[in-house]
Amino acid sequence: LAAGSPPMGRFNGVLDPLTEEELEVTDLRELILGVLKENQRAKLEQEWDAAVRNNRPLSLIMVDIDHFKKVNDVHGHDIGDVVLKETANVLKRSSRQGEEPARLGGEEFLVICPNSTLAQAQACAERLRASIEGNTIRGGTFDGHVTASLGVCERTGAMTSLDALIKGADEAVYAAKSGGRNRVCTSGGAASAP
Ligand code: GH3
Ligand code: MG
Ligand code: MG
Repeated sequence: LAAGSPPMGRFNGVLDPLTEEELEVTDLRELILGVLKENQRAKLEQEWDAAVRNNRPLSLIMVDIDHFKKVNDVHGHDIGDVVLKETANVLKRSSRQGEEPARLGGEEFLVICPNSTLAQAQACAERLRASIEGNTIRGGTFDGHVTASLGVCERTGAMTSLDALIKGADEAVYAAKSGGRNRVCTSGGAASAP
């Protein structure tokens, strides 16, 4: 499985349709993608358009697993994949209908929150963060949990495209990483420590 990590680029090809090669790598990879594949860029664009058209709130949560490279380094890439799949399942279980997570690439996920203000999405993100931290994963030499840093951003009138919303969420993830990881930040700067 070591051969084919999905592209890690963040703004180039965000949620672009998966290549055949990506879909073919292994059963496990297909399982990971199978959990999330219905959510691609088109769905995010659709929510963006609907929010703009109806002048409704729209928020986006970006999730980035903490120190994931270390999981691969210590336990091996296959165990890393198990951890990814488990985390994807936790996100899916903990998300509401219409807020299903999409895999952004690597160990990063997006959760779109239609009709949610920043405060509402922040509460949702905190729930996701706690679920990830509280989920015990066992596989091979791995026995424990991972944590994640989450960034939340709400659409504003000044944003001209979905990419601006994604960029805001990405900046918030960066703030969560700088703030010590395993936490939720908004692009406005508010943080909630675990
Ligand atoms: P940080 O807390 O700052 O996010 O650190 P990190 O180690 O999680 O982040 P970094 O971006 O340095 O490393 C991400 C790692 O994720 C590197 C890459 O090899 C690994 N990765 C990406 N896609 C996959 C995958 O599909 N399977 C596995 N096992 N690893 C993957
Ligand atoms: Mg990352
Ligand atoms: Mg990471």
